[in-house]
Amino acid sequence: MTDWKKCLKEFCKHNAGEVQRLTYELCAIPAPTGNERRRAQYCLSYLRGHGAQAYLDEAGNVVFPYACDGPEKVLVFAAHMDTVFSEDTPLCVREEGEKAFCPGIGDDTANLAVLLVLAAWFAQNAPRTKQGVVFVCNVCEEGLGNLKGTRALMQQWAERTRMFLSLDCTCEAVFHRAVGSKRYRVTAHTEGGHSFSAFGNTSAIEVISHLVENIYSIQVPRHGQSTTTYNVGLIEGGTSVNAIAQTAACVCEFRSDDEVCMAQMEQTFEKLFAQAREKCLSLDVELLGTRPAGKNVPEDEQARLTAVCVDAVTSAFGQPPRLSSASTDCNIPLSMGIPSACFGCLVGGGAHTLEEWIQPDSLGPGLLAAALTLESLL
Ligand SMILES: [Zn+2]
Repeated sequence: MTDWKKCLKEFCKHNAGEVQRLTYELCAIPAPTGNERRRAQYCLSYLRGHGAQAYLDEAGNVVFPYACDGPEKVLVFAAHMDTVFSEDTPLCVREEGEKAFCPGIGDDTANLAVLLVLAAWFAQNAPRTKQGVVFVCNVCEEGLGNLKGTRALMQQWAERTRMFLSLDCTCEAVFHRAVGSKRYRVTAHTEGGHSFSAFGNTSAIEVISHLVENIYSIQVPRHGQSTTTYNVGLIEGGTSVNAIAQTAACVCEFRSDDEVCMAQMEQTFEKLFAQAREKCLSLDVELLGTRPAGKNVPEDEQARLTAVCVDAVTSAFGQPPRLSSASTDCNIPLSMGIPSACFGCLVGGGAHTLEEWIQPDSLGPGLLAAALTLESLL
């Protein structure tokens, strides 16, 4: 073991308090998706205050490349700054028993704090690592942010990125596969008419109902260990009980952790849309959002990264995490064939609710888990 690894472990033992302090301060700074500017300024000042040559990129990410001057490949180590909560959500940390409550405290503020504390340690101690690491506080992970921050980051760093590690969620799971998704709003238009005198005219409700029925008859594709799903989450339309509906619409999606299945589902959806289109005057298909799944990720490298994360979480928390698929910032690098994984540095719950909480006690093991992954990978 090189000396810096010993030093880092020692540092982790004594700095859980700093992670907690930083978490509470960051919690108070609103950071709705697309408006992370103030939180980014705080992160930038924190890093620069510790001697890091950090900068803001065009997308609004805070980026600190450490030992990345050579041509060698690097590790990207990220945590997102944005939360699902609006600007006017009261943000004040409340401690009760073993828990600390605040919207956004676990997703992803405490993980962001862990990342900042580690990045600051690297800036101050300048360890001699075998490869460089790019520390990133990124924007737009949540909601309809469409992973804008990571997309922009990867545009710049993909060529040089060997692996991508994101701190997100809790220590219960290591996410090693990306769930891709595609979401549509489909609106049918027909001539409609009076329910008695124009009986026989096509109803937009009938067209959409048929479409929904057809979606629910899809046999989802399988490819290796993949999981693929679909859902129609909303339908609306029509005018009155005695009117043949002129418009009706549905909002539907499919998801998969496999890019081959994603492509097959897209074809199937397109075919069903085309069938529906033949039955009405016009059919509008609006794409509401898209997230890619993994594609051509080298399996041995992915397995190695996953094992490093699982070992780190297990040894820091004393309990092995489960392996799972999710939709996170890792979707972007995974779609480019870059091994990626994600785990959280805390025990917590209630993510995306006003009752969100963490156990401050878990931040010590969390800091150690993140440090252990860096030790193994760098
Ligand atoms: Zn998150």
